[in-house]
Amino acid sequence: MFTATRRRSLLVLLVSFAFIALPAITSANHSWGGYHWARTSNPFTLKLGDNLSGAWDPYLGTTSSDWSVSDVLDTTIVAGRANPKNCRATSARVEVCNSTYGNNGWLGVAQIWASGGHITQGAVKLNDTYFKTATYNTPAWRNLVMCQEVGHTFGLDHQDETFGNQNLGTCMDYTNDPDGTLYNQLSNEHPNAHDYDELDIIYSHLDSTTTAGQTTLNGHMPPAMNDIDFDTPAQWGKLIRTSHGGRTEVYELDFGGGHKVFTFVIWAEEGRGRR
Ligand SMILES: [Zn+2]
Ligand SMILES: [Zn+2]
Repeated sequence: MFTATRRRSLLVLLVSFAFIALPAITSANHSWGGYHWARTSNPFTLKLGDNLSGAWDPYLGTTSSDWSVSDVLDTTIVAGRANPKNCRATSARVEVCNSTYGNNGWLGVAQIWASGGHITQGAVKLNDTYFKTATYNTPAWRNLVMCQEVGHTFGLDHQDETFGNQNLGTCMDYTNDPDGTLYNQLSNEHPNAHDYDELDIIYSHLDSTTTAGQTTLNGHMPPAMNDIDFDTPAQWGKLIRTSHGGRTEVYELDFGGGHKVFTFVIWAEEGRGRR
């Protein structure tokens, strides 16, 4: 508990400092650059569009109820509006899709569309090309990737990115041992208290506009931002961060005027070297 308190104090300090001096670079906490959904009250409700096949539905259910434990947000599963093959995002919500996206190297991808500091839409894609293989076709891997990618769409970053270390007990900790059987028996399939704390920090203020559920944000997103399928690194813009061993990466596509698309990637083991 002492450690958790210290970490949180440090986090608050870093976040405060970041807003004063470095609005775009806040890598030392696990908020993603301060990006968040605009809303006028808490808790706000974020719709998760279900574009999943039956095998994935229970995992979305688990993730939705896990994240809804947060004091500041609730998620609700609604009918999907995307074609799972390209998983185009829909304004003011998150589309969640699975498909056999091919041997492109990535296991899961989360994307957020941002205007200024606000997230306006999101998409999560789960690649069955790898989830059909013996390595990844487990409840633990499905929970980890679903939970982490949906977590990114709230503006959360990873708590830890080292592949082969002890689990922190959160899906925002990347690992090669999602259920914790190899290491310390801590499962990384669900959020932990520190994630809820971080959400409280990210969503501590209220906005005068709304981007979740409906949009009252002024200013339109450039049309090209919705016209890209974002399936390959060539469409993701510039690589802005890579973790130990390159197992997770973040890309940024800048459309100017504060309009950006961020792509969070978990690479599959089998996919390495195909990039
Ligand atoms: Zn705000
Ligand atoms: Zn991630």
